[in-house]
Amino acid sequence: LLCDKMHRPYFVLKYIPNVCLMCSSWVFLLSWFTELTDQQKEFQQLARKYAREEIIPAAAAYDRSGEYPVPIIKKAWELGLMNSHIPQEYGGMGLSSFDSCLITEELAYGCTGVQTAIEANSLGQMPVIIAGSDTQKRKYLGRMTEEPLMCAYCVTEPGAGSDVAGLRTRAVRMGDEYVVNGQKMWITNGGKANWYFLLARTNPDPKCPTSKAFTGFIVDADTPGIQIGRKEMNMGQRCSDTRGITFEDVRIPKENVLIAEGSGFKIAMGAFDNTRPPVAAGATGLAQRALDEATNYALERKTFGKVIAEHQAVSFLLAEMAMKVELARMAYQRSAWEVDQGRKNTYYASIAKAFAGDIANQVATDAVQIFGGNGFNSEYPVEKLMRDAKIYQIYEGTAQIQRLIIAREHLGRYKK
Ligand SMILES: Cc1cc2nc3c(=O)[nH]c(=O)nc-3n(C[C@H](O)[C@H](O)[C@H](O)COP(=O)(O)OP(=O)(O)OC[C@H]3O[C@@H](n4cnc5c(N)ncnc54)[C@H](O)[C@@H]3O)c2cc1C
Repeated sequence: LLCDKMHRPYFVLKYIPNVCLMCSSWVFLLSWFTELTDQQKEFQQLARKYAREEIIPAAAAYDRSGEYPVPIIKKAWELGLMNSHIPQEYGGMGLSSFDSCLITEELAYGCTGVQTAIEANSLGQMPVIIAGSDTQKRKYLGRMTEEPLMCAYCVTEPGAGSDVAGLRTRAVRMGDEYVVNGQKMWITNGGKANWYFLLARTNPDPKCPTSKAFTGFIVDADTPGIQIGRKEMNMGQRCSDTRGITFEDVRIPKENVLIAEGSGFKIAMGAFDNTRPPVAAGATGLAQRALDEATNYALERKTFGKVIAEHQAVSFLLAEMAMKVELARMAYQRSAWEVDQGRKNTYYASIAKAFAGDIANQVATDAVQIFGGNGFNSEYPVEKLMRDAKIYQIYEGTAQIQRLIIAREHLGRYKK
């Protein structure tokens, strides 16, 4: 969105010609800024229909049982709502980050447990997409377009979550193989994955810089020595499969190293620039659902002779919720659009992830408030939304870690 002198306008009015405030020349609007393309609308509608007709009716039962939603995932795969970002040359649809995020928001509207299970595939695949060789991509991404398989991103350990550099899983080179020993924790799709992206320490010297001490591997899940722990019983997103995984003398062929020994930390962290926009889109989908549920309820529930939406305190709460949802959507779309422009989006990805994660929690909590006593009860949809929302402030970098990144990126621009 630029004027012909390449200035960025401060604000833009839709449907009327805009003039740049810096040089008074015309401002051209890019089409996506005004509305989605027909193809984008088609994907969005397909995902919306699927979420409303098939995910929402099944979500409460999956939440109660904690069962992995196999039929839902299978159908999403058949409809092309999964793995949308796998490049076309490896059998995928090669959708842009922006387009994939539109799908993610809609799926999350239905159930974020389902969306997280689906999104964990993107997280597991992303290191391979950004750093895999042609052979690795053909083998590991290709198979996911041929059948509905899951994969996982295996980085966190019991003693190292935010502090990734503190992880202790070791990989030792022995001939043409690496032998891995260690323990991973909180791995989404841990018990369902066909293969893992694994980050392990290859340089034992504590003085070795973090950027060179770790290596990223692709590991087939059926490799001998991999022990999968029990499914964790989490507060929310309960149908998503989260587990600890132990690696005991697991032998990985050297062909499965991503880029080269010592490149793993950059790959593992670089994946987040691509996966935080969809996480933010998921949080936005949850917040939109909470807003819709609360609004419909407020238009029906009566107190003191009128519907509660007519009490100003409630309508203002709804207005605040609506503002937050709209801004979270703009934040995730901006961060995804930056990816699609081929620009480094670390700053925008962390802003979107932190903001959308926070507002999902605020909006879901406000929805429970608007439902009153009913909001606290599992017969109504909003208590699940409040439980499901919490994880958005924790996984893929906590709310505090996002602020560290935003502050670093922000200050870095000024110091230059
Ligand atoms: C349901 C679920 C699914 C997950 N899925 C995956 C997955 O698929 N793959 C994977 O690898 N990991 C996964 N994780 C792990 C997740 O990314 C970590 O839990 C998260 O990064 C936080 O790490 P931690 O739990 O060790 O908390 P800690 O790092 O111990 O943090 C504890 C608290 O201290 C704060 N804190 C820590 N350091 C700082 C600091 N420097 N400044 C300010 N505050 C700080 C944190 O924000 C947090 O509030 C998942 C976790 C959960 C719960």
